[in-house]
Amino acid sequence: MNMRRIDVVIIGGGQAGLAMSRSLSAEGIGHVVLERGRVGERWHSERWRSLHLLTTNAMSALPGLPHGGDPDSFMPASAFASYLSLYARKIAAPVISGVEVTRVEPNACGYRVSTAAGDWQSRAVVIATGACETPFRPASASLLDSSIEQISPANYREPAQLSSGGVLIVGASSTGVQLAEEIHASGRAVTLSVGEHTRVPRRYRGRDIYAWMEASGMLDEPPLENGNIEYARRQPSLQVVGRPDNRDIHLGILRDQGVRLVGRFAGIDGRKAAFDGDLDKTTAASHKRMVRCLDRIDAHIASHDLQTAASDPATRVPFLAQGEATMLDLRREGIRSVVWATGYIRRYPWLKAPVLDQRGEIVHRGGVTAMPGLFVLGLTFLRRRRSSFIDGCALDARDLAPLVKMHLDLSAREVA
Ligand SMILES: Cc1cc2nc3c(=O)[nH]c(=O)nc-3n(C[C@H](O)[C@H](O)[C@H](O)COP(=O)(O)OP(=O)(O)OC[C@H]3O[C@@H](n4cnc5c(N)ncnc54)[C@H](O)[C@@H]3O)c2cc1C
Repeated sequence: MNMRRIDVVIIGGGQAGLAMSRSLSAEGIGHVVLERGRVGERWHSERWRSLHLLTTNAMSALPGLPHGGDPDSFMPASAFASYLSLYARKIAAPVISGVEVTRVEPNACGYRVSTAAGDWQSRAVVIATGACETPFRPASASLLDSSIEQISPANYREPAQLSSGGVLIVGASSTGVQLAEEIHASGRAVTLSVGEHTRVPRRYRGRDIYAWMEASGMLDEPPLENGNIEYARRQPSLQVVGRPDNRDIHLGILRDQGVRLVGRFAGIDGRKAAFDGDLDKTTAASHKRMVRCLDRIDAHIASHDLQTAASDPATRVPFLAQGEATMLDLRREGIRSVVWATGYIRRYPWLKAPVLDQRGEIVHRGGVTAMPGLFVLGLTFLRRRRSSFIDGCALDARDLAPLVKMHLDLSAREVA
């Protein structure tokens, strides 16, 4: 097969790949977007049925194509998948779907990008394969008794797909709390193992919490200002759900509904699962983080003399943990499924460039790796707190495109 030549290959046709495509086009840079599935594949095949976006419509658009309708409501995940397809057409993104990149290797002319549909020679590569790439499972998951089913959120669609019986959900950030509520409402007994998490109200002083975080500058904070960048990048998502009634979702609500809460998952051996008795500590830390966030919003409101609704005192009432179990015999408890809502890691087995750390994560500074011409986009806190959000990756793409251009100009000069 002929080797095709192009200035830039973008790997991944999700929001980040498309945002990059638009920004490269604006710079007049020739490129192709290689996507192994369909445009926005993960929104088609790796999200559960009832999921609505967690960010409002106002914050869930890419440049040049706003959503019609209520800017303050939340669209279903499936509608966002359709939005991305429309966006790709609108910006005439040169996407080639159904082409998986199997190898990226540096060479004298840049990078050789291999796929089953032939190879590409490019001068630069932008990796946009997603922050939520491989669902993470604790090592001891492999010790779970085989009679108990285990599943990751990327494979979960709806409660009916789970074996009949009780469900243990490990992880209580946005995914864990939403699945706990949905699975419990379907009539199953749910135990939720709670590790580090951050509670926030859906709406505060008359506006969506993310709108306030944006207005007060929190979402645009660059990673380096916060000191411990690795810690910042590992922060779990906020406990929120996107529903028309703007309701909150937090541990107090789930406990009142009948969800049993236990502490951080500590390990499994066969049918026995152990949990740290730390619910009081993790919920106190979560409360502190929420108060810090709300205080910053209050300070922003005061300093800009904004007229808003008063804050609801109930929002700041701390959750009080009650003596929770630290060891459960899952079979005796009737638990037949475990859902690992324990976040994501990223894997790049196809990347043959020395840019991965010991954990297999790409080492970069604001999306620029140590390999000339190799860039990454869409990772958590890449250049700002909202880097992995829909509108955040577009801002990062806008910042990175001139750096891609600079690399192309410099490498052209070297060749001349
Ligand atoms: C449950 C859930 C809900 C979320 N809700 C929101 C929200 O409401 N608002 C918000 O702003 N963010 C949200 N996010 C975070 C983020 O916006 C999404 O994870 C989003 O999908 C990231 O887009 P992306 O383009 O960076 O990556 P992805 O959507 O993961 O796209 C990467 C693409 O790369 C392709 N790919 C991967 N490997 C290869 C390869 N080797 N060759 C070719 N193609 C490849 C994949 O098929 C995929 O289409 C949510 C995340 C999750 C998990």
